[in-house]
Amino acid sequence: MTTYFNYPSVELQEELKKIANAIVAPGKGILAADESTGTMGKRLQDIGVENNETNRRNYRELLFNTDPALSENISGVILYEETLYQKAADGTPMVELLNKRGIIPGIKVDKGVVPLMGSEDECTTQGLDDLAARCAQYKKDGCHFAKWRCVLKIGKNTPSYQSILENANVLARYASICQSQRIVPIVEPEVLPDGEHNLDRAQKVTETVLAAVYKALNDHHVYLEGTLLKPNMVTAGQSCATKYTAADIAKATVTALQRTVPAAVPGITFLSGGQSEEEASVNLDAINKYIGKKPWALTFSYGRALQASVLRAWAGKPENVAAGRQELLKRAKANGLACQGKYVAGSIPSLASAKSNFANGEASLGKYAAGSVVGAGADASLFVQNHAY
Ligand code: 13P
Repeated sequence: MTTYFNYPSVELQEELKKIANAIVAPGKGILAADESTGTMGKRLQDIGVENNETNRRNYRELLFNTDPALSENISGVILYEETLYQKAADGTPMVELLNKRGIIPGIKVDKGVVPLMGSEDECTTQGLDDLAARCAQYKKDGCHFAKWRCVLKIGKNTPSYQSILENANVLARYASICQSQRIVPIVEPEVLPDGEHNLDRAQKVTETVLAAVYKALNDHHVYLEGTLLKPNMVTAGQSCATKYTAADIAKATVTALQRTVPAAVPGITFLSGGQSEEEASVNLDAINKYIGKKPWALTFSYGRALQASVLRAWAGKPENVAAGRQELLKRAKANGLACQGKYVAGSIPSLASAKSNFANGEASLGKYAAGSVVGAGADASLFVQNHAY
């Protein structure tokens, strides 16, 4: 086996490490606001708002123009490309709103999932072809980190060896390209919570997937200190009859990470994956309270679990913008405490904190193209949105 390699220059290592460490500074995490146009349409439809560029812009402006106190708990925001080039109503570029608050702009760079032929409804993620050029441009335009999401499904025969290997490799190739353009890659292999499987099965699958991801990252000479991992928490399938406590989830999650994620990785920023806002805070808190080896920061990169209450409070009305911002500050504060193991369950009530964001049945391939899914009603879960990020 040949072992030729080149470490990145010391300057590049330092730059990447500095960005990654700033994102996972104590008490801080990421706001994932990178919903594609289709996914954003579903969120807007849920609150009776038309999915057009102005409304998407108004909503993102609501988020980013929140009181600067937001940056006490939000270190970075993941943008969708459209937002990166939008301006607030007064002409200030969106990126400028974030920079003024000391929040680091990031960008979703994958181009969505596509089927793996011959597999049992499994998928890979596309977008590599022009990635280096896009990253170079995004860096110039102010983005310092990126996200690429791969999806793995738990079924009787899945995830298959084919999908585990393919997704690990595409994540590694993405990570290497990002680093070549001075962008910190967030590596996101999401094991979906759809199904009846128990906690043990979710843990074993997560371990197998993460082991493959770190093997691939090593094969591609990715500089781990300049990366972040965005995994699912280890939870039982949404249709599993057995109910588990936050402490059970914390133990399974930290154990899976201990077995597979090198200590060189500075931080792990969990996705919320359809958990309610409160569940996502309570589980993150339990993970941080769990006693055991934890050589990485354990924090959040939440989409729905930071925005469900904001959307409900705003409802597309200019007079509700301030109320929406208050909801964002509350969930940011709750998760800022949770990532330090200091959150008291129920202590920060928000409008939709108990509302499940899960809606089963959209995990299968080809059924979750952006924009293809009608939003859930007020009482239905919103999990469906997970699959079209
Ligand atoms: P959720 O927190 O809503 O799962 O989304 C995070 C994300 O960025 C998924 O790719």
